[in-house]
Amino acid sequence: MNEKEKLEWQKENEERKKNNENYFEVLSLAKKEQKQEHTAPTDCFLSCQHINKIYSNRVQAVTDFSLDVKDGEFIVLVGPSGCGKSTTLRMIAGLEDITSGDLYIDGKYANKLEPKERQVAMVFQSYALYPHMSVYENMAFGLKGSKEAVEVDGHIEMRRLTREEIDGRIQAAAKALQITEYLNRKPTQLSGGQCQRVALGRAYVRNAKVFLLDEPLSNLDAKLRIQMRSELVRLHDDLKNTMIYVTHDQTEAMTMADRIVILKLGKIQQIGTPIEVYDHPANLFVATFIGSPTTNVIEALYRNGKISLGDSQITLSPEQQEKIEAFYPAEIEAHKAHLAKLEAEPRYKDKKQTKLAKSYQKELVREKELIQAFETLNNKDEKPILFGIRPENLSSVSDSKRLSDPLKVKIEAAELLGADYYLHFSLQEKDWCAKVPADRLYHIGDEVVLKMDLEKIHLFDTITEKSIF
Ligand code: ADP
Repeated sequence: MNEKEKLEWQKENEERKKNNENYFEVLSLAKKEQKQEHTAPTDCFLSCQHINKIYSNRVQAVTDFSLDVKDGEFIVLVGPSGCGKSTTLRMIAGLEDITSGDLYIDGKYANKLEPKERQVAMVFQSYALYPHMSVYENMAFGLKGSKEAVEVDGHIEMRRLTREEIDGRIQAAAKALQITEYLNRKPTQLSGGQCQRVALGRAYVRNAKVFLLDEPLSNLDAKLRIQMRSELVRLHDDLKNTMIYVTHDQTEAMTMADRIVILKLGKIQQIGTPIEVYDHPANLFVATFIGSPTTNVIEALYRNGKISLGDSQITLSPEQQEKIEAFYPAEIEAHKAHLAKLEAEPRYKDKKQTKLAKSYQKELVREKELIQAFETLNNKDEKPILFGIRPENLSSVSDSKRLSDPLKVKIEAAELLGADYYLHFSLQEKDWCAKVPADRLYHIGDEVVLKMDLEKIHLFDTITEKSIF
């Protein structure tokens, strides 16, 4: 572990500890919820409401996860390893208990339903097909003998399927997935794409309303992975099932999802369409996680409508100025409102200093500290900020005289990718990258003038790393 990784690890550990302070609150919530009535929302197909997961070793893997999924939507959960993606998926599948919060699937409260009663099906990384069985047998395997939830007169009954029912389902699935002609083949005689169809077929014959896919492409080689991505999107278009897909690969998320859910340390950072999260990241984490190469970020100073980036100065547009000026007062107001809400709750008046009360107290102190930090910044004429720009929003120009905010840099590495170059350079000791068309040759040591697309810049506040614009 190098120094940088060590620091990141320490930071992550700190945040995990903060997460864990929620422990007592979550458990007390869970107790309350058991007694409550559960009414399913009517405007979505699957709904996760304030879901928390704490494992028996007290690791809080998921914190306050709320998501409404429409019928037929393709949702991708994305985030670095350990952020709680699989745990969330497994809770939806019923393979893991939900510590607190409500899960509704197709109008039913699903927390207590057995996996089989949920009408969801999981598709795993390896497809998990039996090599000695034909495609038909693979699809029939899970159906034979096992009981299945069948809706009879509005209520769910468990019963075995008949041979005819099983055959009917397999034929229908094979037709939908265009694998009828392969039904008698063994998986080893199929391509990767066809195997994937069979794996989905197995989910389909179970009448699964929701397909849950856990990194299904991760052990394919790069070329096949790209092929499979579009194949899956096409399959989803054909089947129109609701799909929840887990990956750590932001490219998969961007290319496949109707909506992306970005997670970090068990908490949702942003939910949005690929374009929304790319163009308007909610915070620094999303800005640097989505997009490749990553967003360039640097500490800068804001004063009077201008941003100082080392020797360069950038003049913000009136709209951008308005946004930054409004940001700090709005944050102060929002945190004050939150604090007032917290203080109004009777739980803070608990004098016994139970562990639960202590964890609430910490939350209170944190809010007060945030308000103070924002007030201090708001009163300053010169404010530190984090400045971000994507590599594709930097362009190389030959005539620097006409430019108001040129960035003069020295190339430290020039990677030619065919149509584009990735030009690497340092700005105030930070590694930066510009993606420019390969309309000329670039070499290490070249001095280049870069222009920023000022409409595409991002600013983040230094206290919470939230996006200002
Ligand atoms: P991801 O799928 O995003 O890689 P996971 O959902 O697998 O993340 O894990 C989230 C966190 O929960 C991690 O810190 C992981 O170590 C922890 N975790 C996962 N499974 C268990 C378990 N069975 N018991 C205890 N901790 C677990």
